[in-house]
Order: sequence, then C-alpha cells, then structure tokens
Amino acid sequence: MKETTYPELNPPLRLLLGPGPANVDPRVLRAMAAPILGHLDPDFIKIMDETQEMLRLVFGTANALTIPVSGTGTAGMEASLCNLLEPGDTAIICINGFFGGRLVEMASRHGAQVVTVEAEWGESIAPEQVEAALRAHPKAKVVAIVHGETSTGVLQPLAEVSQVVHRYAALLLVDMVTTLGGCPVAVDDLGIDAAYSATQKCLGCPPGLAPLTMSARAVEVMHQRKSRPQNFYLDLTMLEHYWGGGRVYHHTAPITMVYALHEGLRVVAEEGLETRYERHRRSAAALQAGLEAMGLVLHARQGYRLPPLTTVRVPEGVDDARVRRALLVKQGIEVGAGFGRLAGQIWRVGLMGYNATPGTVFTFLSALETVLGWEGFRQEPGAGVAAAGRVLGAAGEGS
Ligand SMILES: *Cc1c(COP(=O)(O)O)cnc(C)c1O
Repeated sequence: MKETTYPELNPPLRLLLGPGPANVDPRVLRAMAAPILGHLDPDFIKIMDETQEMLRLVFGTANALTIPVSGTGTAGMEASLCNLLEPGDTAIICINGFFGGRLVEMASRHGAQVVTVEAEWGESIAPEQVEAALRAHPKAKVVAIVHGETSTGVLQPLAEVSQVVHRYAALLLVDMVTTLGGCPVAVDDLGIDAAYSATQKCLGCPPGLAPLTMSARAVEVMHQRKSRPQNFYLDLTMLEHYWGGGRVYHHTAPITMVYALHEGLRVVAEEGLETRYERHRRSAAALQAGLEAMGLVLHARQGYRLPPLTTVRVPEGVDDARVRRALLVKQGIEVGAGFGRLAGQIWRVGLMGYNATPGTVFTFLSALETVLGWEGFRQEPGAGVAAAGRVLGAAGEGS
C-alpha cells in the first residue's frame, strides 16, 4: 500500500434542521477539547456523578439507575429491551411510525413474543388500543411506546397510557429520543418505568451517548431474570456497578462524550426546563404558522404536533429531492426527507435544542420560500416570515 496524505478535515458549517444531529452548543464543543482523564480517576467520577444528577433533573426522576449508555439512541433502545425482556416474555409494542417498527424488530431478536398496537403514520396511539391489547394479553411484561415519533412529527400523550399499563402491572418503556430536553417528560410523575434518549437531538450535544433511566421496579424485574442479558456491552446489571456502587470496570467510558453531555446538561439547567420547553413550543408554533401561510400543509394532526420536529407535506408538482438538495447546497441547510411509508411525501424540519430559536425559523422560512420559487411554486412573497413574526411577536419578545 502506498503512503497517502489526505487533506485536512474541513467539514462545512451547516444549519442542521433535520431529525438530528442538530447543531451543537459552542460551549459543548469547547468542553470536548478538555484533557482526557482515566475512566476511574476521582476527578472523572465526580463528573460522572454530576452528569447523573443533571440527567435525573431533565428526566424528572429520582431513579438511582440513571446513566448515559455508550452509543447513540439505538443503544439506549437495545439496552432497555435486552435487560427487561427474556426469551418467551410478551411485549406489547405501539407502532405509529418508523421507530415503533424498530422496537418490534429488536424485541423479537431478543426472543420476546411481540404484540403490536398500530396507528396511522401521523396519528397518536389511543389508550383504549393499549387497554385492548392488555386485556387480550394480561401477562404482558412490557409495553413500549415512542414519545416523539421523529418519522411522523407526532407527540404521544403518555398519562392515560401509563395508567392503563399499570392497571395490568406491566412495565411502561418510553422512547424519549426526540423529546428529552425539548418537551416535558416527567418520568416519575407519569409513572414511567424505563426511558431512553440520545444526546444529539434536544440536548444540544453530538451523537454518541444514550441517556437512560429505570425505576426501582424495573431494576427489580431486571435483577430477577432467570437468564443473563444476551448483550454483554449493554448489560445494565453490570453497568450499574460502574456508574454507582463499587466503580467496577465494565468498559471504558467515552470520556470526551461524557464531558460533552455534562456541559450540555449544564446549559439545560441554566436555561431552566420550563423556559427551554417554551422556547421549543414557540419556535415550532412560529415555523408551523409560517409554513401554513406559505400555502403548505402540515402532516401531523393538530394538537399532537411534536415541537422539536415539524412534518410538512411536499406540495404537488414540487421535486422533493431537488428542494432538499438546493437547501443544502445553495443555503447550507439540512432538512430531513420522509422515510418508510412517508418517503417522498413529507419534509421533516427539526428545531432541536440549540436550533430552536426565532432566528433559525426566519432563516429557514426565507430559504424555503426562495427554493420553492425556483420550483415554480406559487406563493405570496414574505407570507411565511410575516406569519412567523406575528407568532413570535405575540408574546412581547418579537422586537
Ligand atoms: C433518532 C431516533 C432514534 C435512534 O437514535 P440513534 O441516535 O439514531 O441511534 C430512536 N428513536 C427516535 C424516536 C429517534 O428520533
């Protein structure tokens, strides 16, 4: 093999308005330049403890087992399923988009008998549907549901689902990948037994860690397994002794990613959870008003729209891929395409964490107007930006 020198890495600065990763807070990038510590260094253990405390704050929980799992959101999903389920267990899994489907695939691979509860891609799951599945399978061990379906833009209400699940003494597992840090999650108030997330969506960090929390009841179920989890790397019965207790080595913590999460969570705590949720709500409301004023149609049903991710239908006669390409190449803006059964039908516009700001909304709406103009889409000039401005001005902070 010949020795080659490659050019210096120089990725362009994009505005990341897809389904994640989103742009990272500059404070987080600075924290990532800090010197590496050993994974059992007392100074690092202090950083671990603080990270866990701040994770409990954003999850709204006092759960002892609250840790960042090494890996992206999918690792959090796999850790939850492979620790709670044993071969032969029944799992009820709700599917109203792509990630519900992934939960089914994964639970089946871990040997569970999967019962599905389904809704259209763009609708939420009704508590009555979950109740019907539990009535038919009263011994189900776990009910899994996605809080924010990033493939459809739907925010799933959890309170009634949680009551139903607990009436049947099952465990409620919730995918909070797109909602943690951007929408209220209230794990303890809602009685959620297990939840996982990811760092690159509303927490303002790069991809690489999957925050996870489990209630005392879920931990008990995990400890009473007849078999050990098939996955060694994600075995929480071992990981809990590294993140707490005896600090027993299991695998080397991704030190730099923990620094990033620590700083990202400090930013969240400084802003305050309520302020942060309100910023996501207002930015999404402005974006959605702007898109509708441009004559576009939102995909998710009103009242169930996910603030961190808006789905909008690709209008008739407009080339989906060409619009996304022009946004990326000419304007430096990434948006998400529809996928699975919504491929080619919608765009997915994320306003997550650092990006959920009025400035981003105005930038995106004017960029989209320009690109849609090139496509010959008929619209009233400036209508989107004006409508967004009315929403953002209404709270008295528009100027
Ligand atoms: C992004 C996402 C995941 C998967 O996370 P990765 O970080 O891509 O592994 C799972 N669930 C939902 C709802 C997501 O949006």
